[in-house]
Amino acid sequence: MPISELKLAKELIRRPSITPNDAGAINLLAKNLKSIGFKCQIINFKNIKNLYAKLGRASPNFCYAGHTDVVPPGNINDWSVNPFKPTVKNNKLIGRGANDMKASIACFVAAVSRFIAKNKKFKGSVSLLITGDEEGIAINGTKRVVEYLIRKREKINFCIVGEPTNPNKLGEMIKIGRRGSITGRLTIIGTQGHVAYPHRANNPSNTMVKILKKIKEIKLDKGTKKFQPSNLEITKINIDNHADNVIPRLANAVFNIRFNNKHSSTSLKRKLNGIFKSIAKKGKCKFSVIYEVSGEAF
Ligand SMILES: [Zn+2]
Repeated sequence: MPISELKLAKELIRRPSITPNDAGAINLLAKNLKSIGFKCQIINFKNIKNLYAKLGRASPNFCYAGHTDVVPPGNINDWSVNPFKPTVKNNKLIGRGANDMKASIACFVAAVSRFIAKNKKFKGSVSLLITGDEEGIAINGTKRVVEYLIRKREKINFCIVGEPTNPNKLGEMIKIGRRGSITGRLTIIGTQGHVAYPHRANNPSNTMVKILKKIKEIKLDKGTKKFQPSNLEITKINIDNHADNVIPRLANAVFNIRFNNKHSSTSLKRKLNGIFKSIAKKGKCKFSVIYEVSGEAF
């Protein structure tokens, strides 16, 4: 019995699997795959659930890869529907994860169910590698499952990743690589004091503002034939100050860079650290920075 992609997509959206929570999404998927003959392995790394499901044993192994976790919905009142109550409006499915990427996963499963209904026997095997850890720091997801599969001598010959990459219509774009992603958490350390006596304090926000202006304005590159220019975005600025007349001691900011293959996370860290060092020195502030690298460009 073929599986309906719309029905499965809706069932997945109903599970509020806000990263790193699973909310039953992986088990729901495994249940559907088992019903059409897949052998399912749930592979847990720390608090993360991953699924490797396989139909058939022969080579080549064709694999669909994806993730069931979603980003937080933000302010629920800004939605036209409840993000976890999937709704079809004007022929469009609305809900958190409808685009990225529960609908893709539902389409994988529906496509295989139709294929096997018509082809009882086929040469090769079909697998799904689905993680619950893509939208977060992504260290206990696909990467670790792939390492596990290599250890088990499990070979994947072809792979389709169902990430939404087509800006307007299906099939207009195929991605052959991926940009790297690095997040930086920057703290500027000054000296606390009263606003009436600024000479006795050192406001870290002055240095922070200069640094953020500088890192936003640097042109990392002009892009390559295959990649758009690398880009930095500041995603958080925070001074946790409860008084209006106190110069704070700390200023915090978070930024993320999506970078092409003209850079590596190491070369970017070096470049940024140089900027932080020279501007902090001029402002007589100290700084600390913590980086998280989700992946290099390839
Ligand atoms: Zn995605």
